[in-house]
Amino acid sequence: MPITFESLALGEPLQRALRDREYTTPSPIQEQTIPLVLEGHDVMGCAQTGTGKTAAFALPILEYLSDNPYKAKPRCPRVLVIAPTRELASQIAKSFTDYGQHLPFKSTVIFGGVGQNPQVKALQRGPEILVATPGRLIDLMQQGRLNLRDLEVFVIDEADRMLDMGFIHDVRKIIDKLPDDRQSLFFSATMPMSIIDLSEKILKDPRHVRVTPPATTVEKIDQNLCHVAKSNKPRLLEHLLREHEDGLALVFSATKHGANRIAEQLNRVNINADAIHGSKSQTARERALANFRAGRISVLVATDIAARGIDVKGISLVVNYDLPKEADCYVHRIGRTARAGAEGRAVSMCDELSHSLLKDIHKVIRMEIPVVDDHPFHNEPTDEMRNAKPQPQGGNRGGGGRRGGGGGGGGRGRRSGGGRGRRSGGGNRSGGGGGSARGGSSQGRRSSSRRQTA
Ligand code: AMP
Repeated sequence: MPITFESLALGEPLQRALRDREYTTPSPIQEQTIPLVLEGHDVMGCAQTGTGKTAAFALPILEYLSDNPYKAKPRCPRVLVIAPTRELASQIAKSFTDYGQHLPFKSTVIFGGVGQNPQVKALQRGPEILVATPGRLIDLMQQGRLNLRDLEVFVIDEADRMLDMGFIHDVRKIIDKLPDDRQSLFFSATMPMSIIDLSEKILKDPRHVRVTPPATTVEKIDQNLCHVAKSNKPRLLEHLLREHEDGLALVFSATKHGANRIAEQLNRVNINADAIHGSKSQTARERALANFRAGRISVLVATDIAARGIDVKGISLVVNYDLPKEADCYVHRIGRTARAGAEGRAVSMCDELSHSLLKDIHKVIRMEIPVVDDHPFHNEPTDEMRNAKPQPQGGNRGGGGRRGGGGGGGGRGRRSGGGRGRRSGGGNRSGGGGGSARGGSSQGRRSSSRRQTA
């Protein structure tokens, strides 16, 4: 029998919110994670954005609050979610608001780069749920404007990205302030050793869940490769965008400076574009994203840091103007299109200096991206180009870490009930047996050979 949201033991207010959104079937990460969280287990999830991960933790957390519906004290949230970027934090907070629209709980989001006063006021109003980036969270804690002593559920989202961006010390500082008796949920797209170490410090007897979105995501995307001389990339980009006038296009640049330059070049030829990267002010980033979402600009040029986690419906073309330096990043980037069942196309430009990056990508996706040569700027690669050693390039901190092991086995639930209003006995409406970890579709990698080339 297919699993439905009704069978997942979520109460009527959440079911109603799901019906409002026309969600009928839980995604694999939701199917695996929701029962475990409802049972009170700590969870270690290997999944990335685009898999429905946010609802996988937001729904059972809201259900938990609804079973234990007391009000949070001012400045003392009951649920904390930390995320690496402002955009992702805002998206998560919006998901809590949307899914919790028929429930009485308040959520708020705090991040740096904007004035703190509105955030301080929002905390004073006693939100049950707080979503935050680490830096501002610590600032406000140090100023005594926020206290985590009443925290019951702690979520780290995109933990690998958090470490890549140098947030490890902040994360440790936050963990030090949390009460021991809490439920912790930990999500990461990749599982290098540093992430496993960190998760061991945070989680108690976790259940593991794992989904492998690269396989499903990648297969819906029409991927192409264009060989092009570096000097012709601007013209090829214009050509691709003119061919694709209907949907939104997201263009990836290796550097912030490059992103600005590409957006300027496009505007000069009357293609409405803006750039988004880590050096832009928060206001400028939000404006660019809002304009893009609303279709007022059709092209957004981004670096990896700014683009991770962006969930914009209607992106039907992703262009890798520069190939990513970390091959895993290729999968994250192209996953910005073909979201929620839509079709999408991803075109990657490979110039004479980028063949070693291309080889790394082919290894990760276990196929060769099909080459398109019927464009005016095709530049047939020579053997010398194909065999060239990696070129040092300036730029940003790309990359999503290395793909490692992880996932797999179970472990036993630790929560024995009790603890301040935590799920105790009657709170567990999920009914499903003692939580054997259903994770471990054990081949963490793409197993499909359907599209592989020899
Ligand atoms: P996330 O991985 O949380 O960023 O979610 C990716 C997208 O999938 C978002 O646009 C969600 O609104 C959407 N989504 C999440 N769960 C479901 C579901 N069960 N059915 C349909 N869409 C969903």
